[in-house]
Amino acid sequence: MFEFKVKCGKIIIVNFEKNFRRNIVNNKKQNEIILSKLKIMYPDAKCELNHNTPFQLLVATMLSAQSTDKSVNKVTEGLFKRYPEVNDFVKLSQEELEKEIKVIGLYKNKSKNILAVCNELIKNYDGEVPGDFEELIRLPGVGRKTANVVLSNAFGVPAIAVDTHVFRVSNRIGLAKSQNVDETERQLMNNIPKDEWTLAHHLLIWHGRRICEARKPKCSDCDIRDYCQFYIKSTTI
Ligand code: SF4
Repeated sequence: MFEFKVKCGKIIIVNFEKNFRRNIVNNKKQNEIILSKLKIMYPDAKCELNHNTPFQLLVATMLSAQSTDKSVNKVTEGLFKRYPEVNDFVKLSQEELEKEIKVIGLYKNKSKNILAVCNELIKNYDGEVPGDFEELIRLPGVGRKTANVVLSNAFGVPAIAVDTHVFRVSNRIGLAKSQNVDETERQLMNNIPKDEWTLAHHLLIWHGRRICEARKPKCSDCDIRDYCQFYIKSTTI
């Protein structure tokens, strides 16, 4: 089906079918195809923050705010050897922890929050990280994203943590349509089967890091471009 438009004095034909798909969220079938293609593209998709325990994952995730997983892993490699458990961390002063993580951005705030979390864990949770969303977000400096990362990766609870990659990629593709992180999380939970939430989170992050980069998405190398609303819009008149 076609429609005609006048642009710069010329009559142009607009592909009506493609135009119709503008500004809509993908349907269930499209989402299934997208996820199955992403699974083929990234068969090893998993959490890239190195950790051995829920506590170490909690610390690594708090360190990762506005920092790359690579830079966090570099720091935690030695840090977790010297201070593997919460009982080791609480012996550190804030200045000592700042020194340990100094190469990572926002290290002052992160040190303060991590030590506050450690003290809270000792005081109210017998030194264990709680495997419950409401309890996690009560900890100082722990938001929805961190809580969801810890829940899904350390406790096997299905969750979709929306970080900068998940937010950007899912809204480009059409798995969600929102300017808001919490609403994006809600829409993703609606549009993706629960038993795929955790994997979908990893797949979107891996895709965002490798192909669907923030500044220059590599659409010509992307196997899901035919189902991506951003690509469809950018290639339709
Ligand atoms: S087609 Fe482009 S914008 Fe869409 S997911 Fe692929 S890389 Fe990202």
